Amino acid sequence: MSCEMKLKERIGTINPIFTCQPAGAQYASIGLKDCIGLVHGGQGCVMFVRLLISQHLKESFEIASSSVHEDGAVFGALNRVEEGVDVLLMRYPHVKIIPIITTCSTEVIGDDVDGVVTKLNNGLLKEKYPGREVHLIPVHTPSFVGSMVSGYDVAVRDFVKYFSQKNKPSLKINLITGWVNPGDCKELKHILSEMDIEANVLFEIENFDSPLAPTKDVVSHGDTTIQDLIETADAQGTIALNRYEGGAAAKYLEKRWDVPAIIGPTPIGIRNTDTFLANLKAMTGKPIPASLVKERGIAIDAITDLAHMFLADKKVAIYGNPDLVIGLAEFCLDLGMKPKLLLIGDENPGYADDPRLKALQENVTHEMEIITNADLWELEDRIKNKGQEFDLILGHSKGRFVSIDYQIPLVRVGFPTYDRAGHYRHPVVGYNGAIWLAEAMANALFTDMEYKKSREWILNVW
Ligand code: SF4
Repeated sequence: MSCEMKLKERIGTINPIFTCQPAGAQYASIGLKDCIGLVHGGQGCVMFVRLLISQHLKESFEIASSSVHEDGAVFGALNRVEEGVDVLLMRYPHVKIIPIITTCSTEVIGDDVDGVVTKLNNGLLKEKYPGREVHLIPVHTPSFVGSMVSGYDVAVRDFVKYFSQKNKPSLKINLITGWVNPGDCKELKHILSEMDIEANVLFEIENFDSPLAPTKDVVSHGDTTIQDLIETADAQGTIALNRYEGGAAAKYLEKRWDVPAIIGPTPIGIRNTDTFLANLKAMTGKPIPASLVKERGIAIDAITDLAHMFLADKKVAIYGNPDLVIGLAEFCLDLGMKPKLLLIGDENPGYADDPRLKALQENVTHEMEIITNADLWELEDRIKNKGQEFDLILGHSKGRFVSIDYQIPLVRVGFPTYDRAGHYRHPVVGYNGAIWLAEAMANALFTDMEYKKSREWILNVW
């Protein structure tokens, strides 16, 4: 049996799994308090991304566009950045951070965004907004390089690079969540609280599960503050949960400020959550409390009820962000399932050296493929034309038509998920995430059994 990792062979993409770099930078920017990103490019670079994020989180929030038109594409469009910054500052008195996020068009034009930031700092901000705290941060995310995943990584690194400053050593740790949901943030903060660990939870968006208050004035925003970012240099260590979404910031803090970094594993499933807790313990010296041991036991009990009877040997296809896909595949293997196809929507030279991908290639005992730079046609083609069978698909909502057309249950996980209610509220990380994932997979299979009358009787006696 073998597991091979290879690049998609076709040129072109049919039904992409990812969108482009600026999308990731926008997702990172919504994790900051008092921040509105200004995307320097055509309006669609914001409109569609904001819509996706809004559909996913079912909340409204602000991102601005410099709205480049034909004249800007020919003559340069930095005047629109200048005007955009001024309008944002006039209209939103609370705004302190404006990342200027570049796009394919403005990178090709060669607009000097770093230069215009210097000009604005020395001109507009001093003359029109003296005494106001404003941080203009260039974030370079050309869309012809990388993907939304690397865009997130670049933005997180650039924010940390801009703000971090050494003051006095602190007992806090930095926790870089990566591209997660409000439910994941809540779960991670719960684990930290149970372990009595103080942390800068960076780019955290728990508040995007926001209340509808009688005053109607609740606006969704991230909760990472400027102070949190400044203090990252004083922390006793950084844990970046995802290698490709926050790993660069952890490495920067280690190199620039000697803050030790632990990158990964993404705490999906029991095994990886155990490692996460062990890393927290090693970094802080805080013991793992009985409450988390109990949660682990409850998760194992829930999984034991399902794994042997229903999940074992099920053939699974998984697509999405690399850290998520790898974490899900590892969890599926631990459950006795057979992840047969992993689709990662971009190519990154780092994949070849990723120890988790190497371990999959070395240890998997069934036929498995890992395709990078993949699209959803890689999945559909195997089902439609190559006779490959899957019992279950794990991935975001963009795969819904493959699921519907070929009647294979899809458990929605990852970004964007817009065609099921409340998914952003449930964690996939931690012991509670393991319970949710195992039960969501089992329930999807149960519904499928009922429709296909496949061993459906077993549900009457289980
Ligand atoms: S590919 Fe380019 S034009 Fe399209 S959304 Fe991304 S940055 Fe904007």
